[in-house]
Amino acid sequence: MATPGCGAVMDEAFAARIESELANAPPHATGVAIVRLGAIRRNYRKLRELAQPAETAGVVKANAYGLGIEAVFSALEKEGCRTAFVATLGEAQALRGFSKAAIYVLDGLLPGTAPLFEEIGARPVLSSLDEISEWGAYGKARATPLPAAIHVDTGMTRLGVPGEDAALIAQTPELLSQIDLRLVMSHLACADEPAHTKNEAQRARFAELSSLFPEVPRSLANSGGILLGPQFHFDLTRPGIALYGGRPASTGANPVEPVLWLFARIAEVRPARAGETVGYGAVQTLKRRTKIATATAGYADGFFRAASASDTREGPPGFIGAHRLPLLGRVSMDLVTFDATDVPDELLHRGGWIELIGGRATVDDLASFAGTISYEVLTSLGHRYHRIYLDD
Ligand SMILES: *Cc1c(COP(=O)(O)O)cnc(C)c1O
Repeated sequence: MATPGCGAVMDEAFAARIESELANAPPHATGVAIVRLGAIRRNYRKLRELAQPAETAGVVKANAYGLGIEAVFSALEKEGCRTAFVATLGEAQALRGFSKAAIYVLDGLLPGTAPLFEEIGARPVLSSLDEISEWGAYGKARATPLPAAIHVDTGMTRLGVPGEDAALIAQTPELLSQIDLRLVMSHLACADEPAHTKNEAQRARFAELSSLFPEVPRSLANSGGILLGPQFHFDLTRPGIALYGGRPASTGANPVEPVLWLFARIAEVRPARAGETVGYGAVQTLKRRTKIATATAGYADGFFRAASASDTREGPPGFIGAHRLPLLGRVSMDLVTFDATDVPDELLHRGGWIELIGGRATVDDLASFAGTISYEVLTSLGHRYHRIYLDD
């Protein structure tokens, strides 16, 4: 027998841990979400290595992509992460409750929120002349320029100061002197498509616009941007999805490891005859005598209805041990049905567990069956899961 590699040994230990966590889950838990914090830490280290000497921040908006901001960012801090990006002031407040990190708020400065930013010690990502003026005026009134980032638009055309305005700002010392400018940033529109010509165009434009603010640290790359190479790294990178195991580029091998394991209970195992239909809409007719395992998760739990199976379409599989169970029929709100015909009876019992997401059926796999992206799978997880955080 071949000697298993280090990774294999570790994964056996992890599999054993998962099994004991599932065995000890509260009996009423219909679903269990296991977040592997050690994997988040390894993913962070990997992304940092790829981008060094640039600093690597953690993007933890939307409750760390649904996985839990406190557990996730605390794990990142153990790896030395000192800078966080969130979307909203409420998220900044949640983060400030347990962390001293520099916190940037990507949605920027909403009118009248400057005092709250100051109170929380959060930095707005300023995206327009109006926001810059309001933050500057507040700093002036407080007799101290307060820290912020400026977002320059390089082609996303969503948020960000247009190029002409960036030049105007840079030439208006009265505006800038009222702000403690800590970062100039922009955002890539096509970083997940490495061959897209927009990437180089945005990089060149960012180099040009950021040079209007000499000495100020620069940031361009999200997860996908990190993989585009050193010219995209500048001084600070902003990975989100790759920390959580989602694939940062649509092509090539995924450089990061899975983070989320998702399980639902078997509510019932039932035999059905060939010719019977399964579930809403009767869109799938059984071709053989079938053992159906009905599991306690559905679209209310983020198992997308758009991923449903039918006579003409395969759906995402579930797993029990080494066995792969094809999805049967439509995904309901709270339940989903699998073909368990080929699973031995001793592995199929009421209250047992079916793996819906993990190392084999990944967040990207579920996303592609549902016609969406891993980001939406993670941020749609729902609130019924019993959540478990495992560190190594
Ligand atoms: C969400 C976000 C990121 C992180 O993007 P990923 O693709 O998840 O790495 C970085 N920068 C900005 C401005 C964002 O909105």
